[in-house]
Amino acid sequence: MSTTFRSSRASADSPAVTFREALFRGLAPDRGLYVPVAVPALPTGWQEVGTFQDLAVLVLGNWIGDAGLGAGRFESLVREALDFPVVLRPLSGSRWLLELHHGPTLAFKDFAARFMGRIMNAALEQEQRRLTIVVATSGDTGSAVADGFSGLSNVEVVLLYPAGRVSPLQELQLTLVRPGVRALRVDGDFDDCQRMAKDVLADEEVQAAGVSSANSINIARLLPQQLYYLWALLELEREHGLRQQPLFSVPSGNLGNLTAGLYASLSGAPIRGFIAAHNANDWFPRWLAGTGEAFAFPPTVATISNAMDVGSPSNFERLNTVAGAVRATVSGHGVTDEATRQRLRRTFEEENLVVCPHTAVGLEAMDMHRAGDTSVPAVILATAHAAKFPEVVSEALPGQWPRTPELDSLADRDTEAAVIAADSAELKSFLLGRS
Ligand SMILES: *Cc1c(COP(=O)(O)O)cnc(C)c1O
Repeated sequence: MSTTFRSSRASADSPAVTFREALFRGLAPDRGLYVPVAVPALPTGWQEVGTFQDLAVLVLGNWIGDAGLGAGRFESLVREALDFPVVLRPLSGSRWLLELHHGPTLAFKDFAARFMGRIMNAALEQEQRRLTIVVATSGDTGSAVADGFSGLSNVEVVLLYPAGRVSPLQELQLTLVRPGVRALRVDGDFDDCQRMAKDVLADEEVQAAGVSSANSINIARLLPQQLYYLWALLELEREHGLRQQPLFSVPSGNLGNLTAGLYASLSGAPIRGFIAAHNANDWFPRWLAGTGEAFAFPPTVATISNAMDVGSPSNFERLNTVAGAVRATVSGHGVTDEATRQRLRRTFEEENLVVCPHTAVGLEAMDMHRAGDTSVPAVILATAHAAKFPEVVSEALPGQWPRTPELDSLADRDTEAAVIAADSAELKSFLLGRS
């Protein structure tokens, strides 16, 4: 059993393709995003699995078979990619924090990057070819992809990140010297980086040179991100005896995580609904609240939850293909920086817990949504570890400077980045010069 994928724009020159083709193309020929032709129903037995990895093997296999790699190889790659804990931490008020930051770069992006890197590399080995991956990042994607793809035999990575829009620690993580990874510091914002990546990926000359993408426009990123929604449902029932369908609050920027959750829901997972928790870049909550007429994407606003500073979320194009389900199950909220800081303080006072600013947006949006009514259980995705954002945390919580041994050890490592203008032509010549 497996599904095929079609372009979100559904034009005649973009026929349905296999998972392998969607993985390597990134973007469909008509510049749409690949979406499943049909979301496969959850496989029988998904509620009986023992571990997160067992769940991953079962559910991913149900979506894409063995990706043409042979069942044994596919299974061992999935287990190796997803070998870190997923923690569901109870809070007060019938709330649970779904901690997705126990991977090597301490953000949820590790799930997708580690899976995608291994599957791509194994496919390339099989086909005896090599590939360069271009990634536009608002911070956490780049470090996860750099980590998840470095040292693989047949893939090389080029990272684009917006100059001055990522934290010093994020920049350190992005620019570490790693085998097979090059960082480009772009004189622009995240939307510029994303536009440049899209432009070059649609360019035939660049494609011919063996270049693809790995940011949240690639369908392969979304598949493993469904898994932790399912795992949370299993844990709520098994560990906490809960049978009610929960609400999920998803700190959102490019809307990849939300789209993945929606796919889990469309596949039959018992989910009450989703909250798209945005910062001041709240185009999507305003779209949800509106009557459906299109309105332009505003420019990106810089906030203290910078991994969500996205003015024009690219996965909206995917969500729009299932707009009915989105309107029926998703509510949106925009959270100001001030409310984010207050939520960080409150969470520290009430739970003795230091959370990252993105997670604080998720917590705040859930409270705005429930408005004191705790009868529906709430799961808030903790998308990153607080130690990735020590400046923001210490500003909200004087005296706190969260840290981890992994991040502390980065200070001793070598870094390197090339600087380029926010210009697709310049990126193209960089790629062609190197490929
Ligand atoms: C990427 C990221 C988000 C936003 O996720 P999307 O899938 O782009 O909506 C939220 N929080 C953190 C910490 C992130 O790194």
